[in-house]
Amino acid sequence: REVKRFSTVAALDEPITPPVCINYTQLLIDGKFVDAASGKTFPTLDPRTGDVIANVAEGDVEDINRAVSAARKAFDEGPWTRMTAYERSRVLLRFADLVEKHNDELAALETWNNGKLYQQAANLDVPTLARLFRYYAGWTDKIHGLTVPADGPYHAQTLHEPIGVVGQIIPWNFPLIMFAWKVGPALATGNTVVLKSAEQTPLTALFAAKLLHEAGLPPGALNIVSGYGPTAGAALASHMDVDKIAFTGSTNTGKIVQELAAKSNLKPVTLELGGKSPFIVCEDADIDTAVEQAHSALFFNQGQCCAAGSRTFVHESVYDEFVEKAKARAQRRTVGDPFQKGIEQGPQIDSDQFEKVLRYIKSGIESNATLECGGDKFGSKGYYIQPTVFSNVKDDMLIAQDEIFGPVQTILKFKNLDEVIRRANNTRYGLAAGVFTKNIDTANMLSRALKVGTVWVNCFYVFDAAIPFGGYKMSGIGREKGLNSLHNYLQVKAVVTSLKNPTWL
Ligand code: NAD
Repeated sequence: REVKRFSTVAALDEPITPPVCINYTQLLIDGKFVDAASGKTFPTLDPRTGDVIANVAEGDVEDINRAVSAARKAFDEGPWTRMTAYERSRVLLRFADLVEKHNDELAALETWNNGKLYQQAANLDVPTLARLFRYYAGWTDKIHGLTVPADGPYHAQTLHEPIGVVGQIIPWNFPLIMFAWKVGPALATGNTVVLKSAEQTPLTALFAAKLLHEAGLPPGALNIVSGYGPTAGAALASHMDVDKIAFTGSTNTGKIVQELAAKSNLKPVTLELGGKSPFIVCEDADIDTAVEQAHSALFFNQGQCCAAGSRTFVHESVYDEFVEKAKARAQRRTVGDPFQKGIEQGPQIDSDQFEKVLRYIKSGIESNATLECGGDKFGSKGYYIQPTVFSNVKDDMLIAQDEIFGPVQTILKFKNLDEVIRRANNTRYGLAAGVFTKNIDTANMLSRALKVGTVWVNCFYVFDAAIPFGGYKMSGIGREKGLNSLHNYLQVKAVVTSLKNPTWL
């Protein structure tokens, strides 16, 4: 097949047949695949065409109740919570091996349901799932409390205990990686889980959970309920017998989840929310590297990343050169069937996101930003959008303020560092930032001045199992990955024991 540049409008009429079957479409409760209590199903779609690829059991309140009961029983009676840390780690390690064994099927399913590049799914998303579970497996027997000094004849210690039944709600943009960020630390610390996948992408969580059971996870330790947010998601967040909720998704839904958690049993909440990350190119930056990195910081995963470098701030002295090169790079971007080799961009996830991104492009044009390239849908089928670049973007334009979550780069001009710090921080979000400079003092100053959870200096999107990730301000509460993520799933108990013979204190 010919690889199409986006400027060639092609009808993507013959999608490549995905090399995988869909085997799991029911809910997974207490170790068994079951239908929804209502018997209802919902269609899940192929973003390349909008066609239905499977009908999936639609979980609702009653199914969440069943899943929470199974998780409660598994937590209270074991065996997951009563297994030794070493045994738990071996289950997680065996799972990582199975993920590697089924790498290509998982990747194909992820691409089919999400529209992301098969090469990315096979070489990044699925391997990350295995990598993170191995990382968490390594922590299970290294979680411990302290012996604490006490003012008196007492022996005081802390125990780090699992919280209990954990509810987890994830989005569609990285279904398997989000599964890993959530389920990995929760299981490693001995909790039991009810996970609600995103309604757009229910398939791979079911497959991964099946593999976890094959690896030896006992029934009830992980339950998967596919379904919609306001029904299944809300039932989970407000459940009286769920002890903690972890959510990734939009800031607006995060607020709802926190409110539901507070109004029910005041369960603790961790949130990974939206972003509008600044990508700052200083006058001394290596321009070609910065152009390439800014391009992938925005366009990676069809622009559907919470941390996307979605406000490209460029110093005025290199602005024109940068814009020319960024435009040329976007025009070289290849758009097409995500199963095809050599393609850099597939379709957006669904018609809602597709329409939303096109609305933002229209708003950019109407607010007099300069449309350098793109600006329309791509092809006549599915949810493809042309890689789009706007220059002369002003801070008060909607495209500079809202999370577009699509392949739309916005390039803004700045004069000096004080100004760019103020403007970069002038947003309700605070997830990440990129800084491109050869000056160590500039890098250090910006790293400290930017109010964000991650700063990448002369790089972008460097994620690692051990590096914590999360947001300042309205981008979230808590950190995922790294040691920090384990604390989300542990509570500290102090045990104070009276000593009989105070002479030896
Ligand atoms: P969303 O908030 O609409 O949905 C996320 C999840 O929440 C889905 O599973 C959905 O079913 C569920 N949900 C929706 N309404 C709910 C309700 N009333 N109660 C309980 N659950 C409900 O977000 P989305 O459009 O699926 O995902 C895109 C957003 O996620 C973007 O804003 C993006 O920035 C954010 N995101 C953040 C991170 C991060 O780590 N910070 C990672 C990925 C995505």
